[in-house]
Amino acid sequence: MKYDFIVVGSGAIGSSIAYELASRKFSVCRVGDSDRSNSASKAAGAMNGCFGEITQSLLASRYGKLKLDMDCIAKDLWPTWEKRLSDSSGNNKTLFTAQGTHIILNTAGMKEVDSINYDAIEKSLINYSVPYKKIDPREIHWLNPNDLVRPLNALYIPDEHAVNSDLLLKKLDAAFISERGTIVEENAKCVIVENNKATGVKLLNGECLQADKVIVAAGAHSLELLSSLPEVSRKIPPIFSGYGVSILVRVPEGRELPTSVIRTPNRAFACGLHCVPRGERVLYLGATNILAEKPRKNALISDVQFLLDCALEQLDINLHDAEILSIQVGNRPIPADGFPLIGPCDDTNIWLATGTYRDGLHQSPLLANYVANSLTGIKNHQINLDDFNPMRPPLSGLSRELIVKETVQQMFATGYEYRWDIKPYWLPLLDKGLTENYQNLIESLHPHFTPPPELVAFSYLYESMRHELRNYYGAWS
Ligand SMILES: Cc1cc2nc3c(=O)[nH]c(=O)nc-3n(C[C@H](O)[C@H](O)[C@H](O)COP(=O)(O)OP(=O)(O)OC[C@H]3O[C@@H](n4cnc5c(N)ncnc54)[C@H](O)[C@@H]3O)c2cc1C
Repeated sequence: MKYDFIVVGSGAIGSSIAYELASRKFSVCRVGDSDRSNSASKAAGAMNGCFGEITQSLLASRYGKLKLDMDCIAKDLWPTWEKRLSDSSGNNKTLFTAQGTHIILNTAGMKEVDSINYDAIEKSLINYSVPYKKIDPREIHWLNPNDLVRPLNALYIPDEHAVNSDLLLKKLDAAFISERGTIVEENAKCVIVENNKATGVKLLNGECLQADKVIVAAGAHSLELLSSLPEVSRKIPPIFSGYGVSILVRVPEGRELPTSVIRTPNRAFACGLHCVPRGERVLYLGATNILAEKPRKNALISDVQFLLDCALEQLDINLHDAEILSIQVGNRPIPADGFPLIGPCDDTNIWLATGTYRDGLHQSPLLANYVANSLTGIKNHQINLDDFNPMRPPLSGLSRELIVKETVQQMFATGYEYRWDIKPYWLPLLDKGLTENYQNLIESLHPHFTPPPELVAFSYLYESMRHELRNYYGAWS
């Protein structure tokens, strides 16, 4: 049998695109196991973060602003998306688990990162005329941090909620099947290509499936599937894994959960510290973000310890008697320039839908609609994502000088979040040393292409990352 579309990947992005196409009555096969261990989607806090995700550097480029536009459009799509999924799946349990988002500015971070990003969030809320309320952090009754790192400022964004990622994925499975989609639980080995055109997918068990078009949405693993098209994949920003740990805990009986998301601004290359209520005394604690050479399967003790320390210190010192239900490990797909990879790979009949980094789950309804429209020749009126076409030279956000400065500051922020105790006269020395190291590293990669700060910091540690970056930059030089 030949399908209209094969979608590789069962995370939030692949599952949403597959469902959208199937509900438009195309024949669709979704490839990849539904267990989704180590997928980003399963580990996600699933915040509907738009303004809560803003950083000063995001707003510094038009690509960052485009990402914010995506988040804003996606936010408005969720109520209808949830209704559609409920109708198709027959499961009426609500996806939404939190009412609004509290952003707290506490003293666990540093002013150059936390205060600047907190201000950027507030300014953008004003500029975009989005309702929000400045509040005294003591009004967030659930919050009970160590006084040494208590929040001094807070604001409430009433229409940024969160969804239950586990329930979302279950509903997407059921909804896709009820729309006559086919799920093949085996993973794909590669896309089959004849005369530079995809004709289907080869599975790990050797079986081959045929389709007119193949959509690759396998998260951090996506580019592995394009091994038969080296000339195409060389021109796509390599995807690195942003390994993240999140933890589900159950609070003791009689203890309340917060009703909103509570989070800090993004800091230290990660999505800030946050907690998200999941109902039935279950609280989600998130999340770390460490760029790894390869996607990780298991959590490191150091990351679990760090996350729990942060949660107890900055959110609720009484969380020590909550039960740990699960330690979740996910791999965020992070492209070499930090921006999504959405669109066709030349005229190969292969589409990529990945690279969504820290907010892909929230963007999934938008991407499903956008990709389904584009694949079937319908014009997208809401937004144009041509800039994120996968075969592209690196999109540049900040100047080289600012990237070095930002990398150093984010590294310092990591130290402050670990509550390091450095004598003040060390700081200029550390600053100078890190600045010089990162400048040298960047110059050794390419005369003008520059990776985003997190990739500067982590490629400093791994030769394999530097190698991949040089290869990709070479393809565009
Ligand atoms: C800890 C953490 C917290 C996060 N919090 C948020 C948040 O609050 N809000 C938000 O919007 N986003 C959040 N994100 C980011 C978000 O999860 C991602 O942007 C998004 O889920 C990516 O979805 P995806 O479907 O592209 O990738 P994934 O969810 O990683 O799914 C990819 C799927 O492809 C499968 N696959 C891999 N190789 C193959 C193959 N060869 N064949 C078939 N299938 C294959 C994998 O098994 C996986 O199931 C978070 C991420 C992490 C890790």
